[in-house]
Amino acid sequence: MPDLAGVVRAIADEMRARPDRGEVARYIPELARADPRAFGLAVIDAAGTVAVGGDADVPFSIQSISKVFTLTLALGMIGDRLWRRVGREPSGNPFNSIVQLELERGVPRNPFINAGAIAVTDVILSGHQPREALGEILRFLQALAQDPTITIDEAVAASEKRTGFRNVALANFMRSFGVLDNPVDYTLGVYFHHCAIAMSCRQLATAGRFLAHSGRNPATGYSVVSPERARRINAVMLTCGHYDGSGEFAYRVGLPGKSGVGGGILAIAPGKASIAVWSPGLDAAGNSHLGRIALEALTKRLGWSIFGV
Ligand code: GLU
Repeated sequence: MPDLAGVVRAIADEMRARPDRGEVARYIPELARADPRAFGLAVIDAAGTVAVGGDADVPFSIQSISKVFTLTLALGMIGDRLWRRVGREPSGNPFNSIVQLELERGVPRNPFINAGAIAVTDVILSGHQPREALGEILRFLQALAQDPTITIDEAVAASEKRTGFRNVALANFMRSFGVLDNPVDYTLGVYFHHCAIAMSCRQLATAGRFLAHSGRNPATGYSVVSPERARRINAVMLTCGHYDGSGEFAYRVGLPGKSGVGGGILAIAPGKASIAVWSPGLDAAGNSHLGRIALEALTKRLGWSIFGV
């Protein structure tokens, strides 16, 4: 069995030495400030051993990775009724696409494209004030990561609020079909803020552990979700977690994963490990360029792809 700490360190060194880094996201102006040379990797195995490399303790904007946790929360609130509001098929379209929404009467294809995540946020908001819903999401992440210091980067949230015209359009379009229940600016306020949560690779890998271990966090012994629900969330991550790059990610990495435009990826090796990687430069599909390459190297060297070696 290869030595986990050695593999993680070697991959971090290899990634930091590469000249190809992808392009940092600029459509949310605050994200353009990220250092394209940053690279972090954290892996937590079933025994709780943590292996880290590079900038694994530097917080970054988790962006769409938050959608894994809002999906988990919304399923906890209304169960499988959630699937009446949002589908679970890959979109084959960019993360902010509006085209399929009209064809499918305002019901987004899956909970990980922007429209789907906004619909999920609307479910969490129902019956609450925006501040309470946001507090719920933040406390959930703090509890999972066992770290009460995790916060929202207000500058990123404000930056997206100022420039998120496409998301405003998506939300209004869904509201016109009755898919959203709450005032659009309330739902979007919560959405922009949960996307702006800042976490390090170590915190994110800790928060993802329940998905690697049949819904139970081995560190606390608490069940977060049932084994069946964990399996299903992993399935949606595998098929929809990288927008229209989901096929390529499954082909190269072979793990359920969720990316964010901040350059982070949370990947789950079921039964084996929770993994978080961060490198702000993105590929053409909006997924971390070096993050994907690092995960491909990791799964290959450790034989962790769910499809075999
Ligand atoms: N907050 C971002 C947006 O809605 C999330 C996109 C992403 O991380 O892919 O545009």
